[in-house]
Amino acid sequence: MPIRVTVWGENVHEHKNRTVAQVYPQTMHGTIAAALNGQDGITATTATLQDPDHGLTAARLAETDVLVWWGHAAHGEVQDAIVDRVCNAVWGGMGAIFLHSAHFAKPFKRLMGAPCNLTWREAGERERLWVTSRQHPIAAGLPDHFELEHEEMYGEPFGVPEPLETVFVSWFAGGEVFRSGLTYRRGAGNIFYFRPGHETYPTYHDANVQRVIANAVRWAHNPAPRIANPNDAPNVPVQSALEPITERGPRLHQDGQEGLR
Ligand code: ZN
Repeated sequence: MPIRVTVWGENVHEHKNRTVAQVYPQTMHGTIAAALNGQDGITATTATLQDPDHGLTAARLAETDVLVWWGHAAHGEVQDAIVDRVCNAVWGGMGAIFLHSAHFAKPFKRLMGAPCNLTWREAGERERLWVTSRQHPIAAGLPDHFELEHEEMYGEPFGVPEPLETVFVSWFAGGEVFRSGLTYRRGAGNIFYFRPGHETYPTYHDANVQRVIANAVRWAHNPAPRIANPNDAPNVPVQSALEPITERGPRLHQDGQEGLR
């Protein structure tokens, strides 16, 4: 069975900015999905901010093995109920890949629990990405380094927690550096953040970038069944303890009472 990917795009600048429309006539999410559909073992579809429930109904997320997220201009328009739904799916085992300006996407910030801020400059400068974890599956088939001739600069300090592994770092022509490929696990979900992808540059047409995203989809895919309620916090009464114990000391909770949240 192929890995089922949903590529989510906020789908705003493609319709408001002539340059973006020219660089991505099939939209950004459409371009990313088309590249993934050219890969063996991956089936990608798209969803957008403008769809009902932003295209991310419970049923859609249940059928999504890996969610790819690109957003920039409209982070604030993403409904909090959908953010809850996405985070629950990740905690339950759905893979998630956050691209470029999705560092400020609501679900990414929630999953990181950190400001996710950085320095930036829009000057079309060269970005050189270095592989820092040569045996990592997300770097499979890539050269030691590759370049994107025109990109927006993102610089350190990047306000995210220390990752499981740093797969890429970027150097920019202006001198800044940035941890541009980071892996996380949150609950049962594998998360990858990948930096390149400013909307006025043809980054998602680049073969190396497409390879990274496809590798990341395969890495993030968790084939185990989704955990139905990853927020469950059940009480284990004394009589259900694995070893016989006698209750002692004071109690705050009554039998059968819901835990406090
Ligand atoms: Zn950007």
